[in-house]
Amino acid sequence: MEFIAKEIERLETEGLYNQIRTLESGQGAWVTIEGEEVLNFCSNNYLGLAADPRLVEAAKEAIDEYGVGPGAVRTIAGTLSLHEELEEKLTEFKKAEATIVFQSGFNANLATIPALVGKGDIIYSDALNHASIIDGCRLSGAKVKVYGHDKLDELEELLIEDQDKDCKQLIVVDGVFSMDGDIADLPGIAKLAKKYDVMTMVDDAHGEGVLGSHGRGIVDHFDLHGQIDVEVGTFSKALGVVGGCVSGSKKLIELLKQQGRPFLFSSAPTVPDMAAVMESVNILQESDELVQKLWDNGEYFTEKMEQLGFDTGESETPITPVMIGTAEKAAEFSSKLLDEQIFAQSIGFPTVPKNTARIRVMISAAHSKEDLDFALEKFEKVGKEMGLI
Ligand SMILES: *Cc1c(COP(=O)(O)O)cnc(C)c1O
Repeated sequence: MEFIAKEIERLETEGLYNQIRTLESGQGAWVTIEGEEVLNFCSNNYLGLAADPRLVEAAKEAIDEYGVGPGAVRTIAGTLSLHEELEEKLTEFKKAEATIVFQSGFNANLATIPALVGKGDIIYSDALNHASIIDGCRLSGAKVKVYGHDKLDELEELLIEDQDKDCKQLIVVDGVFSMDGDIADLPGIAKLAKKYDVMTMVDDAHGEGVLGSHGRGIVDHFDLHGQIDVEVGTFSKALGVVGGCVSGSKKLIELLKQQGRPFLFSSAPTVPDMAAVMESVNILQESDELVQKLWDNGEYFTEKMEQLGFDTGESETPITPVMIGTAEKAAEFSSKLLDEQIFAQSIGFPTVPKNTARIRVMISAAHSKEDLDFALEKFEKVGKEMGLI
């Protein structure tokens, strides 16, 4: 077991060792770290729903009625009426034909990709796809062809190359790319998929609750209902809870209930999670207000940061990368921010390419105008101190 100590040492010397911060409070605009109140700029709690009293109440009521645990995998005795109610609600919300719920978005990808393609088949994968897509592709055993990030001309060349092959083919892509905040050219992908007769799958983890009318997601944003075969979602980001889902045709969902391995071999999502997610969707259906607030906050913050002279990259969403350069410098920036009560983690290689290290600011509807102004003042202070602006 000596290799373990060596591996940990390597991570430390290469600056890749994760320092895990502990929150001593619930999620929100302000959180407690090491006894200090700090302004939270790095959770995925886009709409501030993670500690919303309506979700808390829904979870409590469900616990009173059903208890806590599911007791089994979905296919044996773990399917509660709550799971099916949530699946129906999500189907309606996403304007899809059917939906299946998983324990997480990560599991949704691991379940779906191997159920659709296998040995001898081909997957076309964007270079910046999320780790759970990459792992799902590996598990499937299909050949994976990676094309440059959002480079649809490269994708088309690959599709032409394989045009006459007698196998299943799948294009898989993140909807919103989490490190840069840019949006996939889904209409372009749908067009290519139709032309070359291949399947399409989008992982909308950062688009759900953010893009589209009432936060219905990327498919709604581009009005592509019925044109993308597989729509993956997660409950852990804007929806504020935990869990994942896949929406698509009735036959697709039927297949995933028969062959999605995490559905068959890992216990069902818990009672309070399902009830809380249901309440999140209720809130979104009733009003677009939180989604609007999120976008207003994002636009305000980006505009002011650019006025200060920061480079905020190519984001098209409330994910706001603040480009710094080397990983060391980004880490220093983040630590100086924390001294100023701003909690914003730096992200460096290998999560992003070398020398494009950044502070990834996650804007939330939970932030007030005063919070954003407070942060802008601190960014300006640290930015000047470090000679970045
Ligand atoms: C966060 C994320 C996931 C994982 O979702 P969980 O529900 O947290 O497991 C999957 N795909 C993408 C693109 C993500 O950003």
